[in-house]
Amino acid sequence: MGKQEDFVLRALEERDVRFVRLWFTDVLGYLKSVSVAPAELEGAFDEGIGFDGSAIEGFTRVTEADMLAHPDPTTFQLLPWRGEGPSTARMFCDIGMPDGSPSYADPRFVLKRTLQQAADKGFTFYTHPEIEFYLFSGRPGLGEEPVPVDRSGYFDHTAQSRGADFRREAISMLESMGISVEFSHHEGGPGQQEIDLRYADALSTADNIMTFRTVVREVALSQGIWASFMPKPFTTHPGSGMHTHVSLFEGDTNAFFEAGAEYQLSRTARHFIAGLLKHASEITVLTNQWVNSYKRLIGGSEAPSYISWGHNNRSAMVRVPMYKPNKAQSTRIELRSIDAACNPYLAFAVILAAGMKGIEEEYELPREAEDNVWSLNDRERKALGLEQLPKNLHDAIKIAEDSELLAETLGEHVYEFFLRNKRAEWEEYRGQVSAFERDRMLPVI
Ligand code: GLU
Ligand code: MG
Ligand code: MG
Repeated sequence: MGKQEDFVLRALEERDVRFVRLWFTDVLGYLKSVSVAPAELEGAFDEGIGFDGSAIEGFTRVTEADMLAHPDPTTFQLLPWRGEGPSTARMFCDIGMPDGSPSYADPRFVLKRTLQQAADKGFTFYTHPEIEFYLFSGRPGLGEEPVPVDRSGYFDHTAQSRGADFRREAISMLESMGISVEFSHHEGGPGQQEIDLRYADALSTADNIMTFRTVVREVALSQGIWASFMPKPFTTHPGSGMHTHVSLFEGDTNAFFEAGAEYQLSRTARHFIAGLLKHASEITVLTNQWVNSYKRLIGGSEAPSYISWGHNNRSAMVRVPMYKPNKAQSTRIELRSIDAACNPYLAFAVILAAGMKGIEEEYELPREAEDNVWSLNDRERKALGLEQLPKNLHDAIKIAEDSELLAETLGEHVYEFFLRNKRAEWEEYRGQVSAFERDRMLPVI
């Protein structure tokens, strides 16, 4: 038993922990939890806790149902919303097969494997997500338009604001769980909020995003309201994205930084961006995994719809944020297509893989889009070589079906399960008759 494990076992007694929740994530990005008594933990650290993997989305073929959850002691935290004395704690788990090998179906493992490939080349991958979501005045009823908690807009400061009260409590809770928050504000839509997490290595960030979604929902419920990360809940208001700032470090050195280069971007950074652009259409099915995700990517409201990069250009898919001269550490790029309803482990894995491909193959970075790409017409966009992101889940699936990059990064099992599941979602959606159609047709046809 290592030092970290000992620390956890001691903390269980000192903090009067009665329940330990073992957390992991299914292939679609839903959080799963099994609660164990503290007395079981020593065994869990040694051998893992067995469960039936065939009941978890994307986990096993029925013939390989037995799996083991191995808690990662570095992720031990108390769950503040469960109260103290007695208290409840959680740890994220790595999933193993009975023969001791890591589970090919565990999204956390898919990310770890991709991070290791980058580490073999000397790189650590850092991410910093800006997470947007809506707050509604109650749980939305089926078939009903949700009601936002306020009518405020971008950066609004209003007296007795529900959003500000909410953000304060959510941020305090996140910080008490060791998750640093850098920035928060009211977003553009009524009831829409944004909270940005401090940059951290991508595995920690992915864990933090899973915790974040849970904390935000818990705090909302405790305040009698409802939070949702649905990418586009309204036709007429902005969607909720998860713009993610990314960088690669070699030890303590930011590999994206080069003093004196254009926008302070090193060759490594330029190749990375080129990789993101070249593979953008392939990875979209993971960064934007739902039918609804594509309703956000139609242009306007600052969500991208074309595959482009730019400096301080908010219509670009990859933006190079305004930099502070010679601030090496903060040199980074911002991917703006991704939404917060993704599986963060899988999404970060494919983002990193696309960027690393650009570095390995030394892809040339195309010219930056200097204009607002939405204001151009089709001919102008064509002249600039600007391609559109997949317009809907169906197009994204079709492109992903031919992607070697995805098959390699996700591994055959996750790749196939994921695409099968998404095809089923599309088929079900395709047959839905919507309010849009009824409203257009019933009165006149
Ligand atoms: N809500 C916008 C989106 O869906 C982003 C707004 C912003 O932070 O620039 O991407
Ligand atoms: Mg925002
Ligand atoms: Mg942003």
